[in-house]
Amino acid sequence: MDHEISRLIASEAKRQQDVLEMIPSENYASLAVREALGSVLTNKYSEGYPHKRYYQGNRFVDEIEDIAINRAKKLFMVPHVNVQPYSGSPANAAVFFALLQPKDAIMGLKLSAGGHLTHGHPDITFSGKYFASSQYDVEEDGMINLEKVAVMARTVKPRMIVVGTTAYPRVYDWRAWRQIADDVGAYLLADISHIAGLVVGGVHPSPVPFADVVMTTTHKSLRGPRGAMLMVTDTGLTKDPGMAEKIDKAVFPGLQGGPHDNVTAAIAVALEEASQPSFTTYAHQVVKNASVLAETLLNKGIALTTGGTDNHLMVIDLRPQKVIGNIVAEALEVAGIVVNKNSVPHDSNPPFYPSGVRLGTPAITTRGMKEEEMKKIGSWIATVISEVSHYRLPDTKEGRLGFLSGVKKELQVNNTLLNIKDEVGVLCKNFLVP
Ligand SMILES: *Cc1c(COP(=O)(O)O)cnc(C)c1O
Repeated sequence: MDHEISRLIASEAKRQQDVLEMIPSENYASLAVREALGSVLTNKYSEGYPHKRYYQGNRFVDEIEDIAINRAKKLFMVPHVNVQPYSGSPANAAVFFALLQPKDAIMGLKLSAGGHLTHGHPDITFSGKYFASSQYDVEEDGMINLEKVAVMARTVKPRMIVVGTTAYPRVYDWRAWRQIADDVGAYLLADISHIAGLVVGGVHPSPVPFADVVMTTTHKSLRGPRGAMLMVTDTGLTKDPGMAEKIDKAVFPGLQGGPHDNVTAAIAVALEEASQPSFTTYAHQVVKNASVLAETLLNKGIALTTGGTDNHLMVIDLRPQKVIGNIVAEALEVAGIVVNKNSVPHDSNPPFYPSGVRLGTPAITTRGMKEEEMKKIGSWIATVISEVSHYRLPDTKEGRLGFLSGVKKELQVNNTLLNIKDEVGVLCKNFLVP
């Protein structure tokens, strides 16, 4: 037993129980998932795929990976699944390397509008460095304008269009995206990392069969271990019967070595959990909770990008208050509510000092919280925002030096925030984490 680390893990476990985790990409995996993750499977090497390994001793690992694959196929209704990607970013990389040549044109949503780094962010990512990336944006109101995307596609003629975001609170019209891709002969990659649990639970349309390839992380609304899956649809296989093999080869040996068999087992467990009726109930409640939370905030005069939400997340636009997301996120944490700062559409502030915060309901819904709790939480958040909305980011570089740490010190002794923290603590005691 490593006392130094186990003490810190125990502290983290207590923190996760004592606060409202509202970062929309986070969730609480079940004990069964965590047991698989912490199992002896971590000892094994299994390069290759089930029944075609480069190592001996994979009898049971083969069965486990087969089960994970079959559960995913059934749940998402796809003919081919790869459960080996280490996480979402390498999974997206595998799709790019499987289906494209270096310098091929791609299109994805801008990071500042809620896209992911791996969707073609220029200069600093594989997707922007090795491919000719053109990025679409959202409108002033935060919505994606499909007509504009279609015009851009006709100009750019991308080989692949990536759809999926980290901060978009609305539903994707997959059929329309397919149309845009078909018009220019592009592959359509649906990245449903954030919404996979909603898709499984029937509260967001599935990209199957419209997309050629579907990528999802397994640790967000799907509530599994950290990992990812790549799914090839019938649409993809019809276009290119070799697509499944190309994807598999890009994952291993293209980008990765041995799969993390403990993660594969934990994915299998999470997929079984997600196939239960209770998960459908969960997914519905996630969306219901987000909608009540959004309504509560709007009623308190808080602005949300796109004016609300259809899914599990929302982005508060702090431009009316003129306070930066950093300070609101810091203040909320003092009050026991954990969110992240986030850019808003067409943010005039730099990404390190964005004008918004992003929050969502997957984790607190796992704890069993419902509409009543969302109303409380919404009014606490509104109070916190008004408590800190007088802070202004200094204009000069010199002025900014030490500004945030100074504000942080003040927030830590702010009574309004500390009183909310006490109330949050009481609420959290009534909703245990798994
Ligand atoms: C989280 C996420 C990823 C990346 O996943 P990691 O596991 O953090 O690498 C990719 N795309 C989208 C849309 C995501 O939300």
